[in-house]
Amino acid sequence: MSTADVIVLGAGPAGCAAAIRARQAGLSVMMFDANASPKAAPGETLHPGIEPLLRQLGVLDQVLQAGFQRHRGVWRMQGETREFFPYGQDAQGEWLGFQADRRVLHRILQQAAVDAGATLIRNARAEAVLAQENRVTGVVINSTHYRAAWTIDATGRHAWLARQLALEARTCSPPLAARFGWRNEEHANHDGQPAFRFHDDGWSWQAPLGNHRTAWVELRIGEPGGSPPAGLDLTWTLRPHCAGPGYFLVGDAAATFDPSSSHGVLRALMSGILCGHLVEGWHRAGVAEAMAIDTYRQWVCEQFAHDEQRLRQHYTDSPAGQRFAKEYGLTWKVR
Ligand SMILES: Cc1cc2nc3c(=O)[nH]c(=O)nc-3n(C[C@H](O)[C@H](O)[C@H](O)COP(=O)(O)OP(=O)(O)OC[C@H]3O[C@@H](n4cnc5c(N)ncnc54)[C@H](O)[C@@H]3O)c2cc1C
Repeated sequence: MSTADVIVLGAGPAGCAAAIRARQAGLSVMMFDANASPKAAPGETLHPGIEPLLRQLGVLDQVLQAGFQRHRGVWRMQGETREFFPYGQDAQGEWLGFQADRRVLHRILQQAAVDAGATLIRNARAEAVLAQENRVTGVVINSTHYRAAWTIDATGRHAWLARQLALEARTCSPPLAARFGWRNEEHANHDGQPAFRFHDDGWSWQAPLGNHRTAWVELRIGEPGGSPPAGLDLTWTLRPHCAGPGYFLVGDAAATFDPSSSHGVLRALMSGILCGHLVEGWHRAGVAEAMAIDTYRQWVCEQFAHDEQRLRQHYTDSPAGQRFAKEYGLTWKVR
């Protein structure tokens, strides 16, 4: 048996942020990831607002040095029209986002967690939850029992711990599914900036990655109550009980939107950092467990409501949203 203050399941952005923050507070951290090394993954486009979070985690310099393609904003296209939405600017100049190769980004974050003193165990998939009197006390991995005061589920959309605990997953949109991939070609006519286009039954997205590569995503909206469209399920989902005795869910495990929300990675980092703060408060400052749990649940639900409102407006204004509203009485608000 092995023990630590904190167990983190999943070494993506949310898990690494939680691990680094917990280590910054001097807590012992064991982090497990199912993969042997970071894998190629979609989701390269990072909003400029991510920079202060990367700085807080001590990885901004490495990210800046990684040579990721930068962009000034996003083209939005509808029919024959297109409009460019810049991120903004200040006295220092234009705000730039990143097109971050996710394998490289995860490598930087994982190395920072290890350099901060976290133990990272790869090829490690959780097998069973350990619990005592309704409290999560750890996990079994490769037949070994690992125990901690807090177990953090950062397994992304798989939400491994949430599923083991059968936590409610509230769906808040019609079924949404995406296909995605990468093309070895430049993205013509868009001045090196990503482009978003609404269609009658969903939307498409293209993002230039540099080196003649372009990432693409196509999302389709399914009929409410009908079978989901083919592809990766990206239906908006909230787990309202995203913290409880001995556990937190961070990143996509707590709440998922489709990628048109455009800041899944930013949300993952924010939730990981907040979770680390709350665990520190409980360990070091005597913050009551119920207070830590309530604070986290409230924050996740408020963030979700804010993003849901924004995205609902985004879809309502689109041909796809209008067609589905007409044909299926779709309101884009289920809760
Ligand atoms: C097609 C697509 C396009 C997207 N585009 C963008 C974008 O442009 N910008 C953006 O900000 N976001 C985008 N997103 C969303 C973004 O990818 C996620 O919000 C973000 O990766 C969530 O981070 P996370 O750390 O919660 O989970 P993940 O990044 O999914 O990391 C989870 C980690 O957990 C590990 N794991 C999984 N199961 C287990 C297990 N049982 N045991 C141990 N480890 C496990 C995995 O190996 C992985 O390392 C996109 C998503 C999709 C699907």
